[in-house]
Amino acid sequence: MNSTRNKQFINGHWIEALDRQQLPLIDPSSEQLIMHFSYGNAEDAAIAVDAAHLAFKSWSKTTPYLRAEILKKAADYLRQNLDAIAHDMVLESGKPLLEARGEWTVAANLFEWYAEEAKRANGKVIPSSRADKRSSVIWQPMGVIGIITAWNFPAYNPARAWAAALAAGCTVVAKPSEFTPLSAYHLTDALVHAGLPAGVLNLLIADAASVGEFLLDDGRVKKISFTGSTRVGKILMDGASRTNTKLSLELGGNAPVIIFDDVQVDAVAKVASIARFRNNGQVCIAPQRFYIHQNIFKQFAELVSKYVSELKVGNGFEEGVNLGPLITSKQRDSVYTLLETARAEGAEILTGGIKPANLAKGYFIEPAVVTNIDQTSILAKHEIFGPVMPLFPFTDLNDALAKANDTECGLAAYVFTNNLKTAILASEGLEFGIVGINEWAPHGTELPFGGWKQSGQGHESGSEGLYEYMEKKLISIGGIA
Ligand code: ADP
Repeated sequence: MNSTRNKQFINGHWIEALDRQQLPLIDPSSEQLIMHFSYGNAEDAAIAVDAAHLAFKSWSKTTPYLRAEILKKAADYLRQNLDAIAHDMVLESGKPLLEARGEWTVAANLFEWYAEEAKRANGKVIPSSRADKRSSVIWQPMGVIGIITAWNFPAYNPARAWAAALAAGCTVVAKPSEFTPLSAYHLTDALVHAGLPAGVLNLLIADAASVGEFLLDDGRVKKISFTGSTRVGKILMDGASRTNTKLSLELGGNAPVIIFDDVQVDAVAKVASIARFRNNGQVCIAPQRFYIHQNIFKQFAELVSKYVSELKVGNGFEEGVNLGPLITSKQRDSVYTLLETARAEGAEILTGGIKPANLAKGYFIEPAVVTNIDQTSILAKHEIFGPVMPLFPFTDLNDALAKANDTECGLAAYVFTNNLKTAILASEGLEFGIVGINEWAPHGTELPFGGWKQSGQGHESGSEGLYEYMEKKLISIGGIA
């Protein structure tokens, strides 16, 4: 382990949680103890909000140019320390080293991109309907932001929200997942090293429910930005009415992938077998429900089973590993339960779905390909968040769209075709906030990322992500006769 941290970071100091509680951090590859870390609760959140509230007075008055200098230095720190911080991410999350390095690079890019973007938060002057008035609109930082994030992207999830909120001039009380504290310590160290003033970012690894309730009750917290399950998103929506806490929600997905019969089947099957299992399927935009045109269904199923069975499962530090372990035994067991339910529905598992024979310890599952199921299956209805690839046949565009849209989720969808008309009609007909056409990575620092339906509210990344942390103000000046 490279991080020397294990405490909370509040008002510029690394301190123990007030009640001195500690939790163990477990390596999901070996099931061995990595360390113990300080685990706080609402009492720690209270002093963190005090610090953030006080710091907002001066941080909100800084120029975006000064904030940019700090964020860019933090980005440089992440790039310079890539080996060490990627190592710790693999240790705590189990993901393959290459994926961890890629994720940290994107986290650094987010700091840099928002450093630049905040300089362009232009307002506007509106021609007045009255000769004696002048009207303009400006953007101002919201205030203290609570940022609660999930473990699946231990650097990307927090970096995306922290960078935008800090660049906007807000102060932050961050509560990342207790399963991945090391990455959060590194992100904090980067900002501290870059000269972020005390109180501007406060880090709690803490009891989620009590901290969440505290943040919702405290009127000084103007917004909660949340990345996680739809279940918790709904708890936050219920609580938000108490002090009108604004919310940005990145919730669950259940992404359809529609593959038409005009594609090069082998090439698409090969890349699909990688894309589906990136980060072990623990991705909210993970391609999940594979709708394959009936003319190529059998061929696609055979090819994809072959490619998936060739994927290497193992410790993320090992060369050539495609899939690490799932994050916890609970997450692994939930995937087994989904597979058992599917089996009872009559599903056929073409490959995988079992513990790898060569790995005695760790929360590993062989990646699975499943057929002989329909829209009523648990694998169509439920976000899997694990290494299972269910395949469903479809007949034509309308059939594919009806099946793809048959979900409460609306985050991402994917379409593969060489027919321009099909691509346009499919992209317009899909009820999702993000549509990838002939590509598996429809996201980027500069692009708006957000879900329709029950997948969320608001956007992260892109310029939209910046304005999530700013309020619009109309200034009307009268008496100019
Ligand atoms: P996942 O299933 O992806 O872990 P969760 O929604 O359970 O998603 O967790 C995402 C984040 O939300 C984590 O930081 C977790 O600690 C936090 N969380 C869990 N329960 C609550 C809650 N009741 N209120 C606020 N945050 C919560």
